[in-house]
Amino acid sequence: MKFDATYAELNEHLNRIHQLGTIGKLLSWDEQVNLPEDSADQRAAQHSVLAETAHTAEMDPRLGEILTGLEADLALLTDEQQVVVKEARRDYDIATKLPAEFVREKAKQSSVGYHAWAKARAESDFASYVPVLEKNLELAQREAAYLGWGDRAYDYMIDLHDPGMSAAVISELFGELKKELVPLVKQITASSVKPRTDILRGFPCEAQSSFLHEVTEKLGFNYRRGRIDVSLHPFCSGTGSDIRMTTRFHEDEPLDSLFSSIHETGHGLYEQGLPAEHHANALGRAAGMGVHESQSRLWENQVARSREFWRYFEPRFRQTFPEQTKSVSSDELYLAINTVAPTLIRVDADEVTYNLHIILRFEIEQRLFAGTLAVKDLPEAWNALAGELLGLTPSNDSEGVLQDVHWSDGAFGYFPSYCLGNMMAAQLWYSVLDQHPKLPNEFATGDFTWLLSWLQKNVHVEGKRYDALALTEKVTGEKLSPVALMRYLRERYVPLYCS
Ligand code: ZN
Repeated sequence: MKFDATYAELNEHLNRIHQLGTIGKLLSWDEQVNLPEDSADQRAAQHSVLAETAHTAEMDPRLGEILTGLEADLALLTDEQQVVVKEARRDYDIATKLPAEFVREKAKQSSVGYHAWAKARAESDFASYVPVLEKNLELAQREAAYLGWGDRAYDYMIDLHDPGMSAAVISELFGELKKELVPLVKQITASSVKPRTDILRGFPCEAQSSFLHEVTEKLGFNYRRGRIDVSLHPFCSGTGSDIRMTTRFHEDEPLDSLFSSIHETGHGLYEQGLPAEHHANALGRAAGMGVHESQSRLWENQVARSREFWRYFEPRFRQTFPEQTKSVSSDELYLAINTVAPTLIRVDADEVTYNLHIILRFEIEQRLFAGTLAVKDLPEAWNALAGELLGLTPSNDSEGVLQDVHWSDGAFGYFPSYCLGNMMAAQLWYSVLDQHPKLPNEFATGDFTWLLSWLQKNVHVEGKRYDALALTEKVTGEKLSPVALMRYLRERYVPLYCS
């Protein structure tokens, strides 16, 4: 075919960019897992050289020529090839349309922002953080304008994390969710049933580690193409053939370590399921943050918080920790696993109230970008929303507006992905159950293979071919909505707390 050679050349370029990216991820993983205390300077220098090399590859004029050539006769390409070209164009534009001066300013601001945030949070001093946030907002607006989004800067930021999504779509979804969720949380909070998390104490970290290895391997994570280590904050990085997950251990919080590992395993399974022959291009890459999060949440919540999951794993849990669990009943354990209790801190939130934390942040971001909320008035707006949504008021800004790192790095439009992921996870879950009603019974026997292979065949294999909205509709037959999430939360929590 006319374009075969050009298309092959495109893939050579994309492969080089991809490999440089994987090296960067490996350096970052190592930095968070292994790096000796005083070796940070050398690592920063390595990052900087690598970033420059990657940027040169990303903005290679030859890559631009190849894309222009292919785009001139798009119809001659297969549908798959068109997806690859479209995504490569998107990345190329981001790499080339931002003036070098702007890129330098943004990189500098990113480091300034992080330190200013860390200090402001430690001292609960929002006033010192105001100029940083104002600058970050201005940079986001300028970046959107450079890339042709005009005054739709917030949509640009959302699209960076979740291609195809927009503030208008999210606003409708979150509005519906909020109407139903706030009363459910009130109902649960008013319940006299209170989980006891203090019953799980003194779990040796080594045994926790071996238990979570057993669980995550059973779920299907391939340890020949990945590993799990320890870091301050759990994460999952790497690509298909080399996935690096992390967790953390605390003797008195065995569920934190277990569930964050299962969460990261969900991310890892998605990455391991992306088509290996396409890892360097859009067909082998994740469809966006929301879809990624749907995979982690599905395993963490729909699967691992279920009765059937624990029917299989509870005896093994007790076997691993006989002393620590001997005076804990099955009901107490299951309730501790499904604790719902509003908290001010997002990262400590349970799966029910977590969504309210995201709705809060989305409402704030919308108003910041619309210019109807000034940065200096953020604490007041934040605290009012926390009261309205969570029924709690921060006693200082550290447990309010200063708690998250995201905005210090200009990562606006990122938070909605978490809640979109929850909606999508629940919607996928009911589709799966429709097609294979005995799935929970299989979980009770320790068999998770059907679910993983369904996800591989329906979600993972598509790569970036569809955006989150199109993929949800294609796979579940219905548009993305909060209906399934509310159904799931009610089915899980009403019997536990309100019956
Ligand atoms: Zn996640």
